[in-house]
Amino acid sequence: MSYQHQYTDGTAIDLPMGKVVCVGRNYAEHARELNNPVPTEPLLFIKPATSVVSIGAELSLLQDRGPVHYETEIALLIGQRLSGEVSDSEAQAAVVGVGLALDLTLRELQDQLKAKAHPWERAKSFDGACPVTSFVPAAEAGELSELALQLDINGERRQEGSAAEMITPILTLIKHIATQFTLLPGDVVITGTPAGVGVLHAGDLLQLCIPGQLQVETRIAG
Ligand code: ZN
Repeated sequence: MSYQHQYTDGTAIDLPMGKVVCVGRNYAEHARELNNPVPTEPLLFIKPATSVVSIGAELSLLQDRGPVHYETEIALLIGQRLSGEVSDSEAQAAVVGVGLALDLTLRELQDQLKAKAHPWERAKSFDGACPVTSFVPAAEAGELSELALQLDINGERRQEGSAAEMITPILTLIKHIATQFTLLPGDVVITGTPAGVGVLHAGDLLQLCIPGQLQVETRIAG
């Protein structure tokens, strides 16, 4: 089943699925929980369009390459081309939707790759590695700097965070990304995970939420 961007009311968004630009260690407490240094500039990486799937009633995980860990992140749908130096207002206007993503990670493989100073792609960019929710239209989502996120697993709060805690705030992050990679309509930016990451198990019930904006429930397939 091919992926299509959607608004929360179920309307298809007329944009192709592009790349996903991701930032690592954008919340200090999460960097510390994995014993990573807090970076002095954004740590960027990319997931390809083939890694993106919709978060539906059920979510299938990769079965045979080790434990799959979740990282819950605010996701921004880009609607305009951004390249090079752009202003705050251009960065703001380019965000057409706000949702949530899971930056799924084969953590054991990632640790092996990091130890060898190899790229992370095999641990983070596999097919299905980036489940995303539908998007709240940006005009209805309020201030980007005030967005928050929560993840409950089996009724227990595992992650919560807010854009106000990000080391690189959302607009600064988008502007920085545009100086490194051209962002195109249909690309998605995911903005880093707060503390509380962990492994997923078959049967887990995940409730993802942007308080006041978006609530999604999915069960890990067994
Ligand atoms: Zn992440």
